[in-house]
Amino acid sequence: MKKIIVPIMGMLLLCLDLTAQNVQYKVNHAGAATTCPPEDVASDFGPRMLPQKDGTLKYDWHGGVDYSPLTGNQDRGYTLLAMENGTISYIHNLAGIGFKYLRVDGVHHYGYGHIFTSKDGIQELGDFKIVKLLAPHAGQLAIYNTQTQTLYHTCRDGGPVLSCSEFKYKDGTDTITATNQVVTGSEIGPMGTSIDGKLPNGNKNPDAAVEAHLHLYNFGTVNNNTASDVADGNTLNPLQFATHTATTYLVSIYKNSGFTQEGIGLVYPGTGSTKAGVRVRMANQNGGGNYSAVMNIDKVKLYISKGDEAYKVLEGLNYESRVDYGGRTDAPDHYPAVNSANVLTKTGEWGTGAAPGVNGIVPKAYRSQPEDDFCFTDFVTRLHKAHVPGSAAQYTSCPAEAKYPDGRYKLKARVISINGDSTDSAVSPFLLDNYKPYISQVSMSVKGKQCYDAGWELKYDYCLVSVKNSETQILSDRAILNKLSAVGFVLPDSIRERFDFSKSQSEATRC
Ligand SMILES: [Zn+2]
Repeated sequence: MKKIIVPIMGMLLLCLDLTAQNVQYKVNHAGAATTCPPEDVASDFGPRMLPQKDGTLKYDWHGGVDYSPLTGNQDRGYTLLAMENGTISYIHNLAGIGFKYLRVDGVHHYGYGHIFTSKDGIQELGDFKIVKLLAPHAGQLAIYNTQTQTLYHTCRDGGPVLSCSEFKYKDGTDTITATNQVVTGSEIGPMGTSIDGKLPNGNKNPDAAVEAHLHLYNFGTVNNNTASDVADGNTLNPLQFATHTATTYLVSIYKNSGFTQEGIGLVYPGTGSTKAGVRVRMANQNGGGNYSAVMNIDKVKLYISKGDEAYKVLEGLNYESRVDYGGRTDAPDHYPAVNSANVLTKTGEWGTGAAPGVNGIVPKAYRSQPEDDFCFTDFVTRLHKAHVPGSAAQYTSCPAEAKYPDGRYKLKARVISINGDSTDSAVSPFLLDNYKPYISQVSMSVKGKQCYDAGWELKYDYCLVSVKNSETQILSDRAILNKLSAVGFVLPDSIRERFDFSKSQSEATRC
């Protein structure tokens, strides 16, 4: 049995390694490896309001997750541990002034950002130094772990990967040969403060700094051994793979921009825009950070159902009512419009100018409240059923042609986490009533004998009335219409003219 069990266990371990990694650090080499708890997350993936120097908040897309075990710079110099086995394929800006990170290509493409400081050249932080290599690569810098005596370099010198044995550093009397290989738990660099910043004269600022933290990247595609594309479209949510406990969300729909009244407030006439605000809040959390849960939203959608029909994503005038951060490796192409040309994911404004909500999302988590608000603002109830969101508006005055004909509806919002877990809001019922009523069916019986059964459909934008089942019709349409007119049912002349009265005129006296 043993021979069988061992390979199976190996496979299980491999599976675990493929799907989940821990974000870990040590205070220093002598310290114990610590997995970042949810409280260490300082900024989540996706939209955020970033404080500016002048005190204002600016909408920003955060292409990763920030981890900071301690406030301020108390964790500066902590030792970052590799999340999985891999090759150091790229180290950004080790020699220059500004932001520095290293990328390990393993099963994933994790990037560890803000290592060291913004200064250029040789420096030391925690257990690590930026050091100069010996000839034949004397112009190159590398990351040296002074405690493990490990020299990290991509083993490239402006070209393809060479033998790492060519890349050496002299530590006292010891000659250290570089490696570009790491394993899970390797001590790879210091938690630092590096960031791009400019001096008033426009030059790079060597003293620019953020509070020490790890910005963890999960890159989508990488060009082997070259700089990573850090654009919003290529930075994914590392929480797809970084181990964290599933988050419990409370999802609610609001009818006002202040998010104080739940439900939906229909706007009439139906050519106006009805707005629905969706608040996604982490349960049992408060304040602006140090949550015992992690905000791990990937998608938020607003669904609509008429009667007992299936729920569909609500289609508005300009947008489908869905936000997709595109944080997953298997669906990296649905960012909100601010980040890509796919405008269908932008949800419209509920705010003006640079105010929060300008991009349809009011991100508050890790700043003021454990929640983000999503503004779906273009539910136009008189849209023609042929209308495609984002195209020129097509309305209808004919209920049969409406995308949302009159009737009883249900609205619900759904949040889907980066791991695919979904949470729905309570259902918000509403009655849509855009159109005057019309008679769709008339049946008449005398002493048990049916003498009339006819129906009408309203068709096309001009509401042409057509007879549905004239073969069972005995009393003429005109006679019926005259009877209806007698009780106050009025059809415009334009429609009466389109009505084909000729067919059953001669049968009017049978009943
Ligand atoms: Zn960050």
